[in-house]
Amino acid sequence: MATDLATKMVPFLNPPLCANSERVVNGELSPCTKSTTQTCNHCHLVQYCSKNCRNADWKHHKKICDGDLMKKDWMPRYVHEGRTPAYVGGPLHTPFGVPQYLWGNVPAIDILNLKDNEKDQGVDFKLLFAASGDLRNVIKTIVGLPKDYKGKCTLVINDANFHVASRNILLLLIALSFEPEVAAPIMIHLWYSALLPKSMLFALQHAILPILFEINVGLSFMPMDGHQYVRTFRSGDKYTMIVHLDKAGWIALKDMLMVPFGLTEDLAQSIRKRTMLAPERADYFDRAMYRQPPAARPKQRSRYSALC
Ligand SMILES: [Zn+2]
Ligand SMILES: [Zn+2]
Repeated sequence: MATDLATKMVPFLNPPLCANSERVVNGELSPCTKSTTQTCNHCHLVQYCSKNCRNADWKHHKKICDGDLMKKDWMPRYVHEGRTPAYVGGPLHTPFGVPQYLWGNVPAIDILNLKDNEKDQGVDFKLLFAASGDLRNVIKTIVGLPKDYKGKCTLVINDANFHVASRNILLLLIALSFEPEVAAPIMIHLWYSALLPKSMLFALQHAILPILFEINVGLSFMPMDGHQYVRTFRSGDKYTMIVHLDKAGWIALKDMLMVPFGLTEDLAQSIRKRTMLAPERADYFDRAMYRQPPAARPKQRSRYSALC
């Protein structure tokens, strides 16, 4: 399965592929699949394997690469319109959704840093990541253990916010279920993206959903009384994850991998656009872009309007 999956996810795996989607082979449109590390030397946002590919894709790419945002003298819209921006006494910023703090905002830390501290490859550790929404610290710490580490490292992670806790469980289940080169892009997408590529959702539904279904079937006659049910997941004899959730939590965890009833792709896109591209946010967005160097602005915009 892993090989098949890796093939489907080629666009999301390293090395980066040529961005030319206009290549024609035998009269048919066939996006270029060559890997390359040469970025467009103007915007550095995309990469092409050759001049031919860059030229072929130019009719798409020029909208970004040659767009207004890349111009040195780009000014926010409120300047052109000669009005006071919304963030200075204008209409109040419209909040969307409920306050959630799903991401950390500082660089991740290897809290052990064994090679500079204990320097003992055999010592056992018991680490508590209380209210640990930022799973990056956990992952960096585990990955930071030396290859010849022989001790036992036990980590306890919890969070009162179910969205945070369940996402952390899913991320770790992915790390346990896939080869690293497949797990890493899925984890990054799940962490940062508002849209999950279909191939990734299918991968999760194929590898993880059946396990969660089975757990839920096992709990189907249990009462919804808040009792914690413990389940253990293993990857070889090296990694073990023990998850404590109540019945409602196990149901909700399974539901995270299923498209909500009635939610079409168009509807999801329109909800997302209504939030990310809301007109009330335009001045805040322009202000953020104004502080960026020209080449960074399209990247900032794409975060709001395209990929993420
Ligand atoms: Zn460019
Ligand atoms: Zn190419």
